[in-house]
Amino acid sequence: MRAALLREYHAPLELIEKPEPEPIGPRDVVVKIGGAGVCATDLHAQEGLMEPAGLSLPVVLGHENAGWVHAAGTDVTTVKAGDAVLLYPAHSCGLCVECRRGREMYCERHQFTGLTRDGGFADSVLVDERSLVPLPTGVEPAAVAPHADAGITAYHAVKRLLPRLAPGTTAVVIGVGGVGHIALQLLKVLGGGSVIAVDTDERRRKLATELGADEVLAATGDVREATNETGADVVLDFVATDATHAAGLEMLARGGLYSTVGFGGVISAPSAVLVGGEQAIAGNLVGNWIDLWELMQLHARGGITLRTETHPLEAVNDVLDALREGEVTGRAVLVP
Ligand SMILES: [Zn+2]
Ligand SMILES: [Zn+2]
Repeated sequence: MRAALLREYHAPLELIEKPEPEPIGPRDVVVKIGGAGVCATDLHAQEGLMEPAGLSLPVVLGHENAGWVHAAGTDVTTVKAGDAVLLYPAHSCGLCVECRRGREMYCERHQFTGLTRDGGFADSVLVDERSLVPLPTGVEPAAVAPHADAGITAYHAVKRLLPRLAPGTTAVVIGVGGVGHIALQLLKVLGGGSVIAVDTDERRRKLATELGADEVLAATGDVREATNETGADVVLDFVATDATHAAGLEMLARGGLYSTVGFGGVISAPSAVLVGGEQAIAGNLVGNWIDLWELMQLHARGGITLRTETHPLEAVNDVLDALREGEVTGRAVLVP
């Protein structure tokens, strides 16, 4: 089969031929890829920034995967060949305390498809049965592949905010990209407050308007004025540069929460301001299997629009370049 391999850092992915995976363990499942979303984390992997997450070279990238069950180990009972599935990217044991708490992201034996194990920029991928989320009838794999990471991450981050999203509150989304455009909709669907979207790119501001943002701004510095100088009760940062970290904290209302989903910058804040305003800072890591399952139910009901563009697997390096240059609106999906 074909696969796009990260063999060395700061270099394009290499399109190689390798043997099709087969179930080895009794709960292994081989999934034919229907679509694999391309994520900023893939850029971070190319830049050599994902070793703290367990990445080691060489590895086939691709962690936002959906497709059809092709072959299954002897103990697999929940799916059969041909079933359409979305793949929860974390591998979790189900046995450790964190797994039993429903926090599979912290699993003691944690692995991640497309970072620490070969992923879905390929014709097929090998996963554990625990990774499978059956797709509701009528949902095509390529149309929902980005939910496996972009969607679940947005859902997890917004779900944690729900007690802060009462009517009369204001939430700000910084960056209406692959993850941000989903979070913006979830804030509207699950919360009762108003949502301000901020993006420097005109195409993404247009998308934010189409997706129902109450107000769309080009600059973070305009949020205070847009909230009558009160500031935002919640800020979700999907850009996460030093500049957006600083701006996000600056626009917070008293009692507000600054929650970053993106990563890369350094957060620096005077503790006197945090204490005086009783403000909080939070980070967000993917989500658990149930987050993804719930998001699929919402998607199947038509509650969420996923903006995607599809490209052939062979175009992977062009797609990564376009993402790096900010030329992707919504999410790019590779279709083998
Ligand atoms: Zn990702
Ligand atoms: Zn575990």
